[in-house]
Amino acid sequence: MDIAVIGSNMVDLISYIDKMPKEGETLEAPDFEIGCGGKGANQAVAAAKLGSNVMMVTKVGDDLFADNTINNLEKYGIDTEFTVKVPGTSSGVAPIFVDPESKNRILIIKGANQHLSPEDVDGAAEKLKQCSLIVLQLEVPLPTVYRAIEFGNEHGIPVILNPAPASKELDFEYVCKSDFFIPNESELEILTDMPVDTDDQIRVAAMTLIERGVKNVIVTMGSRGVMWVTKDDVQTVASHKVDAIDTTGAGDAFIGCFSHYFVQSGDVLEAMKKATAFAALSVMKRGTQTSYPGLEEVEEFLK
Ligand code: ADP
Repeated sequence: MDIAVIGSNMVDLISYIDKMPKEGETLEAPDFEIGCGGKGANQAVAAAKLGSNVMMVTKVGDDLFADNTINNLEKYGIDTEFTVKVPGTSSGVAPIFVDPESKNRILIIKGANQHLSPEDVDGAAEKLKQCSLIVLQLEVPLPTVYRAIEFGNEHGIPVILNPAPASKELDFEYVCKSDFFIPNESELEILTDMPVDTDDQIRVAAMTLIERGVKNVIVTMGSRGVMWVTKDDVQTVASHKVDAIDTTGAGDAFIGCFSHYFVQSGDVLEAMKKATAFAALSVMKRGTQTSYPGLEEVEEFLK
């Protein structure tokens, strides 16, 4: 095993609508799509598409979405031994309403994701110990995230913590125990209460995290690029100039790809460059997991 993603999966239920119905009103809508998502699953798929051996510790419900999610992970070669069904619970779902101007309204029902427990981390211990990297987000209960960080520390496995969605309740002690802390701009703003409008402001905000004991902060900055801040250094990789069609899941694309190349080479800057290309390719297509490129496409794009 190369990478363990311990986190969420969701089923995106995307309705393309002319307009939102009013209270009591029923309207017809032109189109509907089901997509596989969830930050954890997206990151796992991104790394697996590049050829990493990925396992996923996650929970699905006992509804008709469960097998669909498991089959989807397995389609990409992801190990689902610890993808567990929870009886009497719905899978995590995200009803999404997209209007003609491509504006989104999204509801998130976490469902089975809320049942992923610290015991589930320990239950997967034997296989987790074989991994070279643990990847975490915040769509599952915080105690589970904390246990996974401790597990990584206990076994000398590096941990990536993507604080998404941002939570003010995140215990800073555990942030400092992660090896790479990877927020986007708005998550950095929420977690530091500092402005993040310019590169300078982002550097200053990230530096406050470093001063509080975080080892590596990598801030993804959308079309502007990505900034890696440590105690001694600040490095920036600019984004590729592309026609962005759909930026949903760009952050997950970046993290999955960064994880793959970091495990392969241990070279952080190189992994950031590859991940910047991977994420750029992903925003040029509609969809989330389906928009993620494979290894050859990334290498070709960088020629
Ligand atoms: P999130 O999806 O979490 O909001 P970002 O918007 O920061 O994350 O995007 C993650 C990465 O995806 C960026 O660091 C960048 O490499 C790439 N990216 C995002 N938007 C664009 C864009 N419009 N053009 C090129 N690359 C992009």
